Amino acid sequence: MISPSEPDTNFTSHAPGYWPDCEAENWDDYKWQLRNRINSLSDLDAHIKLTDEERAGVLLAGNKLAMSITPHFFNLIDKNDPNCPIRRQVIPRIEEAWTAPEELADPCGEDSHMPVPGLVHRYPDRVLFLVTDRCASYCRYCTRSRVVSGVGEQQLETQWEQAFQYLEEHTEVRDVLLSGGDPLLFSDAKLDKILTRLRAIPHIQFLRIGSRIPIFLPQRITAELCDILKKHHPLFISIHSNHPKELTTEVREGLIRLADAGIPLGNQSVLLRGVNDSPEIQKSLVHKLLMARVRPYYLYQCDLIMGSSHLRTSVAEGVNIIETLRGHTTGYAVPQFVIDGPGGGGKIPINPNYVVDTSSNKVTLRNFEGDIFEYPDPTPIPTADMKALHEKALCS
Ligand SMILES: *Cc1c(COP(=O)(O)O)cnc(C)c1O
Repeated sequence: MISPSEPDTNFTSHAPGYWPDCEAENWDDYKWQLRNRINSLSDLDAHIKLTDEERAGVLLAGNKLAMSITPHFFNLIDKNDPNCPIRRQVIPRIEEAWTAPEELADPCGEDSHMPVPGLVHRYPDRVLFLVTDRCASYCRYCTRSRVVSGVGEQQLETQWEQAFQYLEEHTEVRDVLLSGGDPLLFSDAKLDKILTRLRAIPHIQFLRIGSRIPIFLPQRITAELCDILKKHHPLFISIHSNHPKELTTEVREGLIRLADAGIPLGNQSVLLRGVNDSPEIQKSLVHKLLMARVRPYYLYQCDLIMGSSHLRTSVAEGVNIIETLRGHTTGYAVPQFVIDGPGGGGKIPINPNYVVDTSSNKVTLRNFEGDIFEYPDPTPIPTADMKALHEKALCS
């Protein structure tokens, strides 16, 4: 664990790591990265010594959510640390095959909020558009594992024409969030086509892409991709980083290319047991994000996805993390902690309680250092004082 006095804010490169013979030209080519992903037990065995829990996990979890890990991300794995926070995110473990009673296939109730297959309309003025079921690598705690990766029973069947028609007709929709799966896996031409089509709808003001490609596959963030994206402003990108180790020099360069294309970047992280459930790790993560020009946006309590109990923490743990950040570091570095209400409640903000008491004419507050302050309501101006002031003004 990182001690608070020595925050891990160094950006380092891990290439070539487990692929010592790989030519730089191949390594930097995202297509090579995709072709050489770690997809099987034998791929894993060729590079690291698995624990029994991981071996069983790989054998049992394959028909729920595929395993796939880009060489870039795999390189961050510490082969001498069975509890490495990188491996817990992408290598299945035996616990994944156990379903807790509180767990749900569709924890955020998305399927019941789809007016068109692939389009989730949960909030009044914005939609989530699920444009693909594929990612560069698969997170074991994926909130959409019921449809993502293509190996489960349920399939994502996005109805493109119907979705565009819905968006054209629903003039209340001013914000479209492309997600999936990972939209940045699409070719430049296909992304351009989708964004152009959305931009042709006059009431759609704001576009967003949710993507973990900058973390899993920074090689995909090419100058050509940035040129396409910047034609469609205002366009924001939410990335997904959970641990400071993920922010390598290659990742930072990709993020800077996006930021230089005028794309505001936010980060959504998930609070995960054994990965980032400590204030020290979170502090180092948010500081590194700011240095890579990314504003921490949300910290999610892990959804009640099936087979995720070993990765979930108590809610109190998240509140404690926010409390160690707020006031103690840059306000821009503090994400909003949220729980996606199980079954379809949407994102609910969870905050440490700084309001100690409310009474009829004041609130009693606690600051980040624990000191108590009172903030009174405004005193109504007495009629007699008002009258006196008017008279004074008349005489002057
Ligand atoms: C998260 C989410 C959004 C976007 O929410 P913001 O708070 O605006 O970032 C929109 N639709 C759905 C269904 C979501 O889950």
